[in-house]
Order: sequence, then C-alpha cells, then structure tokens
Amino acid sequence: MPIATVNPANGETLRTFDAQGADEIERRLAAADAAFRAYRTTGFGERSRLLNRAADLLDEDQQDIARTMTLEMGKPLKASRAEAAKCAKAMRWYAAHAEGLLADEHPSPADVEDSGASRAYVHYRPLGTVLAVMPWNFPLWQVVRFAAPALMAGNTGLLKHASNVPQTALYLGDLFHRAGFPAGCFQTLLVGSGAVEAILRDRRVAAATLTGSEPAGRAVAAVAGDEVKHTVLELGGSDPYLVLPSADVAKAARTAVTARVQNNGQSCIAAKRFIVHTQVYEEFAERFTVGMRDLSVGDPLEESTDIGPLASEQGRTDLEELVDDAVRHGATALCGGGRPEGLTGGLERGWFYAPTVLAGITPAMRIHQEETFGPVATLYRAESLDEALALANDTPFGLSSNVWTRDAEESRRCIRDLEAGGVFFNGMTASHPALPFGGVKRSGYGRELAGHGIREFCNATTVWYG
Ligand code: NAP
Repeated sequence: MPIATVNPANGETLRTFDAQGADEIERRLAAADAAFRAYRTTGFGERSRLLNRAADLLDEDQQDIARTMTLEMGKPLKASRAEAAKCAKAMRWYAAHAEGLLADEHPSPADVEDSGASRAYVHYRPLGTVLAVMPWNFPLWQVVRFAAPALMAGNTGLLKHASNVPQTALYLGDLFHRAGFPAGCFQTLLVGSGAVEAILRDRRVAAATLTGSEPAGRAVAAVAGDEVKHTVLELGGSDPYLVLPSADVAKAARTAVTARVQNNGQSCIAAKRFIVHTQVYEEFAERFTVGMRDLSVGDPLEESTDIGPLASEQGRTDLEELVDDAVRHGATALCGGGRPEGLTGGLERGWFYAPTVLAGITPAMRIHQEETFGPVATLYRAESLDEALALANDTPFGLSSNVWTRDAEESRRCIRDLEAGGVFFNGMTASHPALPFGGVKRSGYGRELAGHGIREFCNATTVWYG
C-alpha cells in the first residue's frame, strides 16, 4: 500500500511519501532506546507538564489537524474537530491521574508478614520502547489513547500509522516534539506493514500495541509471541444493540442511527447488529429506517454533512460485497443498499455508500458473521430475551454491546451473559479515559484507558525486604 494522502471524497491524490529506509529506521530505534534510558527516570510532575503542553498545542491546532484528518480519511469535519478535542481531554486526564494510577500497591500487613517480609509492595516501572501499529479510522484518538498513558508511565513510543494517514502521523510526532518531550520519546515511522516484523523483533522494542483488523493483529501477535514480547490487541467488532420491550423505543431508534453511522460507519465500537424484541420491532424498524434515510451524505468538509465517503475504495468494495451477498440470500434493504445517487462536483468519484438497513438476516449470509465497516445496519427480530442474547453472542467478535431496557432483571442477565468487553445500557458505546476499553474473543485482548491501560506497559515489580 503506498504511503499517501488520497482524498476519499473524490479519489484525488494530494501527497505521496517515500517510506523510510533501513538507515532511518535504525536511527529512530537508537533514538528511542537512548531516550528511554533517561526519560524513565523523570518524575510524574515533569511528564504531566509535557503532556499538558501537548494538549494545549493540540487545542490550538484543532482546525488545521481536523481538516487534515478529513482530507486523509473522509470523516465529517465536525467529527474530526470533536476527535481532536477528545484527545486533548485524554491527555489532560492522564497528566492529572497517572501518578495515582501507578502508585505503589501495598498488600495487607498480615499478608506481608505471612510472606516473611518486614515490608513488601508492588512498584510500577516502565517497560521500554513500545511499538504502536495504528489504524486510520480515528487517526488521532487511536494513537493518543496509547501515547498518553505510555508516556506518563515513562515509556517511549514508536508509531507505525496506517499508510493512508501519513500527514496525521507526522503531525503526531511533531506535536510531542513541540511540547518539549525529549528527542526520541515519541517518533513516527513512515513505513509500510512489511517493515513491522523486523522492527518488532529488534531487541530495543519491548512490546507492541495494535489497533486494526484481525489479520493484522494475528500477524503482529505471532511475531511478538515468537519474541516473547507483550502485546495489546484492539481488533474488529460487530457490536449488538438490543432493544427490549421496556425500552424508550423512540430514543433507542434515534441513538441507534448515531451508534451505527458515527465516523461514516467505520468504528470498531459502532453498533452493527440491531436485535429487537418482537413486541417493539415494527416501531423500532420504522423509526430507525426513517432516521437512516434522512441522513445527509456528501462532502465531509461541509458542516451540514452527516456521512462522508468510506476511507478507501477497497473498503467500499468489501461492504458492497457483504450487502449484495445478503440480498442475494434473501435480505431486504429497508433503505439504501447501494451507492448514493445525485452526487456532483467530483464527489461522484468518491467512495460513498448510502446509509442502509437490512432486514431478514439469516446465518447463511456472510454479513451475519463478518464486520460491516460502513453505514450498514443489520436488523434481527427476537421472540425473547434468551433469543436476543443468543443472537448477540453468535459472532466471533466481543468488543462492546448495547442494551435498551428499564428492567433490572433483564439488565442483570445482560451483564452476566453478553460476551463483550462492555455493556452499555440505554445509550451507545463510547470510550472515556476513566473507563477501560477492549474486547474478548476475536476482538482482541488487553485493555486501553483507565488504570488498566496505563499498567499494560508497566513492569509490576515486587519489592520485598527481609
Ligand atoms: P488494518 O488493515 O489491520 O490496518 C491497521 C494497521 O495495521 C495499519 O497501520 C496497517 O498498516 C497495519 N497492518 C496491516 N497488516 C499488517 C501486517 N500483516 N503486519 C503488520 N502491520 C499490519 O486495519 P484497518 O482496515 O486500517 O482498520 C479497520 C479495522 O480496525 C476494523 O476491523 C476495525 O474494527 C478495527 N479497529 C479496532 C479498534 C478497536 O479499538 N478495537 C479501533 C479501530 C479500528 P498499512 O496501513 O500500512 O497496511
């Protein structure tokens, strides 16, 4: 895949970049290693000062970096601005909380005595240089939710970003440099995926985190396993969205539209499978379909646009194949089902897909098991909570889940039985710095954000005095 900015709204190539060669990669690995040796000894106060400065710079740059993101991967400009603001907030959150999250942990006096110690505790130390392999869909946020805790813990970072967001990748390296982080603390590598294996095998790289597709996760985890290096994997998702009889159906349908189409439908934690109890199915289907049909599809740089193009032509082809397969096997498109009509001014060459609701899904269809990465929702009818839970869990993925109910017993069952890293009631899944984020099954392992996220790249060191 070439390293280039190609505007998905019209297919125009705006900038191309040469991949860094072996000498440049070696220089950056050496710089990261040297930086770690000094940076690991800095205090939380100094790290907080630097990270808060990065947050301030990001706020100042918000308009420009938002436009860059939109031109590189097509999300509506207003969503790009919101993403930049969310990143600054997460930086400030970790700047304020990292010291507390990594405070020494003390077992009870009885357990200390039982271990034969006069004193014993757990002390968190950084691991070293962490390689971050990141996707294009939230090109700032995916990186910042790794970088903020990793840097606060005293690690150094090397970013291998997706090949279609090189300008955002370069911006991030520059941002941490301008904030005053010592040279080598956070660097961008402009390399293709073929270069990842050698970098990960390098003895100066301690661990890796990957957000992306299952094949990419498997490839990186296999190499890391061979090298016995720690990994965190945040992979795909096909989150269920259960609507049960006690739900506020109008609100559930309104929220469902946003939950499905945020980021042009290209979000790992988007609700993708809408599983609706038969008692409220007709009302939900009607309201949801109207909401999806009313969205405005067009130029992502326009403030009024709800849905921009998909980030790549291949992404749209993959989505078209999934929808066409479902329709061939008997699914009905309640709205959409193809490319939108009437786009002009160059947008007709962009990689747009119309917001789509598909009903009548059966297990014979690929879409029942595969992730839809675009504005396509699948609708299921369930006769009971048991059937809804069985449908929800009938997927290889387990990232998050959403449930609309006002019934305490149903809520308890969902918390107990949904196979996912999150259960969000009467709302849609969203990440927050104070809440851990991650999945089970083929959605990956490990957690980002909160205390769980910052401790992933720490050496939990037992300190014991006789
Ligand atoms: P992708 O193709 O897997 O790319 C992600 C990153 O991995 C890119 O930097 C890519 O580099 C690199 N990569 C790809 N194949 C690789 C390999 N064999 N070895 C090493 N690196 C490799 O994923 P995507 O299409 O950009 O993103 C969409 C996927 O990410 C979806 O499945 C989505 O659900 C998932 N996602 C998950 C989360 C989460 O938090 N769980 C968040 C966002 C997205 P190149 O660009 O150079 O190929």
